[in-house]
Amino acid sequence: MLLVFIEIREGKIKKSSLEALGEAGRRAAELGATVGAALVGPAEAGLDAELFARGAARVYRLENALLADYSAQGYALALKALVDALLPAAVFFAATAMGKDLAPRLAAKLGVAMASDCTKVGAAGGRLEFTRPVYAGKAFVTVALKSTPQIATLRPNIFAPAAPRTGAAGETIVKAVDIPGGAIGGRVAEVLKESGEEIDVAEAEVVISGGRGLKGPENFAMLKDLSAIIPRSAVGASRSAVDSGWIGHSHQVGQTGKTVSPNLYIAVGISGAIQHLAGMSSSKVIVAVNKDPEAPIFKVADYGIVGDLFQVLPALKEELKKLYAE
Ligand SMILES: Cc1cc2nc3c(=O)[nH]c(=O)nc-3n(C[C@H](O)[C@H](O)[C@H](O)COP(=O)(O)OP(=O)(O)OC[C@H]3O[C@@H](n4cnc5c(N)ncnc54)[C@H](O)[C@@H]3O)c2cc1C
Repeated sequence: MLLVFIEIREGKIKKSSLEALGEAGRRAAELGATVGAALVGPAEAGLDAELFARGAARVYRLENALLADYSAQGYALALKALVDALLPAAVFFAATAMGKDLAPRLAAKLGVAMASDCTKVGAAGGRLEFTRPVYAGKAFVTVALKSTPQIATLRPNIFAPAAPRTGAAGETIVKAVDIPGGAIGGRVAEVLKESGEEIDVAEAEVVISGGRGLKGPENFAMLKDLSAIIPRSAVGASRSAVDSGWIGHSHQVGQTGKTVSPNLYIAVGISGAIQHLAGMSSSKVIVAVNKDPEAPIFKVADYGIVGDLFQVLPALKEELKKLYAE
């Protein structure tokens, strides 16, 4: 079995968890394995049907009152109990903040190796192999994990979720897990949203990022205007812009910010330092706007506009308005 940890936010399954489930389904088909989905803590009953439709044969619901709020310690204990019972060949997580927190803890508890932030999963000789970026995205390495289960976090927006199957049925197994008193030393008390209904930069399909070339915080309004026109888009930023206080850290893309892989990444006034590229070079299409034709961002860009962003952005806005009005 390939087991997938399913992350729930505000009652809904995270898209990146469906992506991990989709990839587990494709690899399971090659290995002749089944796919299980693990829901930890309270989750609405209707979610099981969605997981069956997206490729899970079984949904495991792990229950204990101490799992009502997320804690890496509690969730890892619950997942370890499930892994000990099922002995899956692999456990997949989405490489979200929660997945990155939880997967290494589970791997350590089990005493097994893990591969993090994978961008490709293959199957060879009855086992999986994982490809992941190293040296801030300068190179890729493919690793085979000798221990079992093979634990991996999968980078969001890289893997396709399975198309929903209508009428798919599966089995739900409810397991009460034992969590010793005092096992949970810390829990998430509250999740603060930065503002309104903004989409997280790591989940957006289009990211428009600004750097020091924007000259000041007020000019991020130009990027927000573009984002208002493009559906499922978000505004990102380089660390220089964030460190200057022009925009919040939750928007930072890069080695010490978020990793994004949108369908379209527009870098505006960003030079393309290696630490920035580490967070966005797996984007499907990259457009760069920069007045310096030698800027390193052009080396990774699919389309480059050499020019002054203060002239380019208004023209781009007009064209986008026409495009999305059609
Ligand atoms: C340990 C470490 C971690 C780091 N982590 C990150 C990270 O997570 N994310 C990150 O982004 N950086 C990170 N950095 C910083 C990184 O090295 C760069 O300093 C930073 O990315 C540069 O930001 P920038 O491109 O906005 O600014 P700059 O490098 O100053 O580039 C500004 C660009 O704007 C262009 N420009 C200026 N005016 C205009 C105009 N009018 N029209 C068009 N173009 C214009 C310029 O030609 C230039 O290319 C990290 C650094 C370290 C040491």
